[in-house]
Amino acid sequence: MKQLCPICNRDVDKELFDYHFQTEEHLLNKIRERYPAWVESPQKVLWFYRRFVLEVSQ
Ligand SMILES: [Zn+2]
Repeated sequence: MKQLCPICNRDVDKELFDYHFQTEEHLLNKIRERYPAWVESPQKVLWFYRRFVLEVSQ
């Protein structure tokens, strides 16, 4: 079973989903700490994460 992750927009195994989601949420918090103005723009945080964190780690 797969579940679509709202953070990275990828299909993730359901068994791994909680771990996956928490890991990404942790990284999003790091981005929010670095760019506090984006706390009110969640789409910007997601964009940054997908553009600069995900692509680098693939
Ligand atoms: Zn994800």
